[in-house]
Amino acid sequence: MFKISVRKHFSNFYYFYDYLGIKVFIGILLSILVGLFDGLGLALFIPLIQLSTGNHSEDIENLDRYSQWFIRHLNFELSLLNIFLLILILFSLKGLFKFADLYFRVWSQQLFMRKIRNRNIDLLRDYNFQRFTNFDTGRIQNVMGAETNRVSQAYGKYFKTLHYAVLVFVYVTLAMLSSVWFSLIVIFGGIILNFLFSSFYKRTKYFSQNFSKESNSFQGLLMQKINNFQYLKATGSAHKFSFKLKQKVKRVENIQLKLGVYEAILGAVREPLTILVVFGSIFVFLAIFAETLSSIILSLLLLYRSVGFFAGMQEHWNAFLGTSGSLENVQSFSDELMKHPEKSGENKFENFERSLKLSNVSFSYNSSEVLKDISLELFRNETLAIVGESGSGKTTLMNILAGILEVDRGSYFVDDHQFSDLEINSFRGKTGYIVQDPVVFNDTLFNNISFWDEKNPGNLSKMFEASKKAALSPFIESLELKEDTILGFNGVNISGGQKQRLSIARELYKDAEILFMDEATSNLDSETEYEVQSNIANLKGKFTILIIAHRLSTVKNADRIVLLKKGRIEKIGSYDELLETSREFRRMVELQEL
Ligand code: ADP
Repeated sequence: MFKISVRKHFSNFYYFYDYLGIKVFIGILLSILVGLFDGLGLALFIPLIQLSTGNHSEDIENLDRYSQWFIRHLNFELSLLNIFLLILILFSLKGLFKFADLYFRVWSQQLFMRKIRNRNIDLLRDYNFQRFTNFDTGRIQNVMGAETNRVSQAYGKYFKTLHYAVLVFVYVTLAMLSSVWFSLIVIFGGIILNFLFSSFYKRTKYFSQNFSKESNSFQGLLMQKINNFQYLKATGSAHKFSFKLKQKVKRVENIQLKLGVYEAILGAVREPLTILVVFGSIFVFLAIFAETLSSIILSLLLLYRSVGFFAGMQEHWNAFLGTSGSLENVQSFSDELMKHPEKSGENKFENFERSLKLSNVSFSYNSSEVLKDISLELFRNETLAIVGESGSGKTTLMNILAGILEVDRGSYFVDDHQFSDLEINSFRGKTGYIVQDPVVFNDTLFNNISFWDEKNPGNLSKMFEASKKAALSPFIESLELKEDTILGFNGVNISGGQKQRLSIARELYKDAEILFMDEATSNLDSETEYEVQSNIANLKGKFTILIIAHRLSTVKNADRIVLLKKGRIEKIGSYDELLETSREFRRMVELQEL
């Protein structure tokens, strides 16, 4: 139990150390210096009081051991002014180190938060896509936002606790030098007190973990509400969902309240209890040892001050535990991302020359196999359509070719390279991905296409060139603010066909040579359907295109069609060939012609 707890506390320290390295020790060193100068300054109050009440230096025999030692080693005349000056110097030095300590703590806290955010942003960027699809998106949002803030608070609390612990240590050491037995009795009392508080700590930690869990789930619900707003409104389910959300809010609030109550109780009872310990110790000490109060006066002074720091230490420790749930949450989030990064090879992908080739490829989600023994070659500048009923594995097949999913069995070659040998980002630089509901960012049309490149004449003409190829130019021309028009949720209305053109323009801007497209399944009006069809016809022969097709018009335009059935390739051929040889395909075509 003790061992586990020590390891746990060290694991927190290690977590901070991992981000900040040697810097964590600088804070501790500064705390020691603050405590040392404060303690030395304080010790000089005793001779100061004695001198001011008429006692002289020869009376130092009456002082406790530590004061005697200190005064003897000072080697200077014990006058009121000298002592006063020395106290002033010591406390000024303490002030200097205190400033450095506080400044350092704020600075390192900010640095720590930035490092966590940056690391998680990078880890998420490189995270395996398949794992991502099973991830709770509410948790991602919560961890990257509110939880990181709480971890930064936890960092502040942890090092404040450590700061106070160092002060307690320095003061207790000084007090021990002054009077060993009295100090030991007080320490013993302190240990008992801490033991009494331990159940408080446990509960606080428990509530803190619950807090993180509930806020993850609140964020998850909130995101679902936003994403499915239209559906919830149209079906009148918005009320029910809002009720669920409010229940979550209430639960989070309840936990916060409990954490607050615990903190308040602890804050309130700590001082009277510690006074009890100190005075109880004096009583015990005087009863056991036949000594006078004056021999322990410095020790008492130092211990009393250390009791204050001890209380501060406990308070911050409890506050740290109150945020430690977030620490665990963020830690396990980063661990998960770190454990499953996307794999990438070393070879840079320069130019696409011949083909993308799958050879006897199988793929499973969890343990259910959704692609079976797929062999397929997509040649340069070919337009290949994938058809098949819903769930037959079309999206999975496309995602494997796009390098988002890794093959389980079989091989994937890009020209003559094994896909796994390729540096993945150099491959992605050459591929475009145009999804069913094309992505529009809430920003200007230029930024939407250039992906926030600098707006200079070179990039501008590149944007116009890409827009021309994607047949987006007439749309841009029709806008009053042209490429500066804001799109997205606050921007102009943009039709499905235009969205797709925008998406294509974005991919062509970055010089994509291979386009992966997922045609919209929703019922498009005939004008949009015509637009989409002409978008693809426009690109045919100039780019390598893989398209998940739902419409006859698209399929007719393709060079070859792959018919997927339950994860297997049923047939490959041109439109006419498939009509002739596949009953399944004929049935699909007939259904669409109805
Ligand atoms: P299609 O695009 O033809 O509709 P998919 O490739 O999307 O087919 O899906 C093929 C099968 O894999 C389906 O049974 C689907 O339920 C399953 N599937 C798809 N994505 C996942 C996932 N992330 N986790 C588990 N199963 C999945």
